[in-house]
Amino acid sequence: MNENLPVVIVGGGLAGALAAVRLAQRRPDVPLLLIEAGDAIGGNHTWSFFDSDVPPATRDLIAALQPVRWARHAVRFTTRTREFDAPYNAFGAAALNDLVRATLLPEQLRLETRVKHLAPDHVVLSGGERIAARAVIDARGPQGDVPALELGWQKFVGIEFAATVPDPDRAVVMDASVPQIDGYRFVYVLPMAADRVLVEDTYYADDAALDIDAVSARVREQAAQRGIAGAELRREVGVLPILIGGDPQAFWPAGDPVARLGLAGGFFHATTGYSLRLALRMAEELAGLPGPLDGPQLAAWSRARFLQHWGEMGFFRMLNRMLFRAAAPAERHRIFAHFYRLDEDRIARFYAGESTWGDKLRILSGKPPVSVSAAIKALIGR
Ligand SMILES: Cc1cc2nc3c(=O)[nH]c(=O)nc-3n(C[C@H](O)[C@H](O)[C@H](O)COP(=O)(O)OP(=O)(O)OC[C@H]3O[C@@H](n4cnc5c(N)ncnc54)[C@H](O)[C@@H]3O)c2cc1C
Repeated sequence: MNENLPVVIVGGGLAGALAAVRLAQRRPDVPLLLIEAGDAIGGNHTWSFFDSDVPPATRDLIAALQPVRWARHAVRFTTRTREFDAPYNAFGAAALNDLVRATLLPEQLRLETRVKHLAPDHVVLSGGERIAARAVIDARGPQGDVPALELGWQKFVGIEFAATVPDPDRAVVMDASVPQIDGYRFVYVLPMAADRVLVEDTYYADDAALDIDAVSARVREQAAQRGIAGAELRREVGVLPILIGGDPQAFWPAGDPVARLGLAGGFFHATTGYSLRLALRMAEELAGLPGPLDGPQLAAWSRARFLQHWGEMGFFRMLNRMLFRAAAPAERHRIFAHFYRLDEDRIARFYAGESTWGDKLRILSGKPPVSVSAAIKALIGR
């Protein structure tokens, strides 16, 4: 291996950017190149998280992103409202972009550059330029329809309004008291600053189709009902995969020589579609790997971590199967309302993807929110 060749990370979204920042900080001996098709890092996203989603070793990375922090958060269903004293946080793509620019050398970053071919030891750009690499990491994000995976979808439109709310210190992370349309539906209200509020309308649905104009109109309606009115500052849209089942060996075949991170490598929470925690964990691990960080090393490491993650998500895939296959779309809210009877620590571990056996038993106990026969049929795949 030529030691002058860089680790090339393709995709400057959440996973690729965090990995690049950590590598630049911890392994300055390793040349690095981050290639992003867009004109900035991170696209147009707001990433939100609980404190318990942040691996302790990466707290400095999160602090550098200067997240907005709410002291409290709340959830609401037709049957119950719960207020939690636990904080909630969020940061935007601009903060990720700033962090990358502040950490990487200018020659380590190429924006507005699309890669058309990835190989273990080089990439080819859409203009034909070939860049040799010691290792290539595919962090290109979601890759559209993935036949190897059985998926449901979490899709949403969020609009940020120039407005105020009466309680700017509280995030409403799930208000499912709204009419249930297209699966499990809830509204999210995040006061991003004293004069800006993000309102999002989210659906756990069977298909990925999203009528952005129709959902935007519903966001405005929900905002107005909460007294949130003002100029629209920005809009963000997401269609996130929710994992119900599939074949991990077909998704990522043994011997695939290119390393992967982020959604391209299946590193997301099966039930929420969220990936910040895993992106942080993988960035930290990558930067701590011993040795030269060459192509075979990174490909073997990232695939092994994917298979481990797949194993850890087994329980969550089973819950998703019940959510999507045993509950009629209009009844799915019952499953979440049932889940939110749990104590705070169990809920936090669920979102972190770290439920214990005791948590799993508690999640499944109590009066079932769906019929037992429908649940059994869903679990055995009929
Ligand atoms: C609007 C939105 C909000 C979300 N909110 C949260 C949240 O609150 N918390 C959470 O944990 N998760 C959230 N998610 C889910 C998940 O964390 C994100 O989708 C996350 O951005 C995935 O990270 P990634 O790096 O895999 O992909 P992306 O962040 O999508 O990054 C992939 C990057 O690769 C680039 N790219 C693609 N192809 C090429 C190519 N050929 N050449 C060069 N570059 C290329 C793209 O331009 C993009 O910048 C959200 C997702 C969306 C869409």
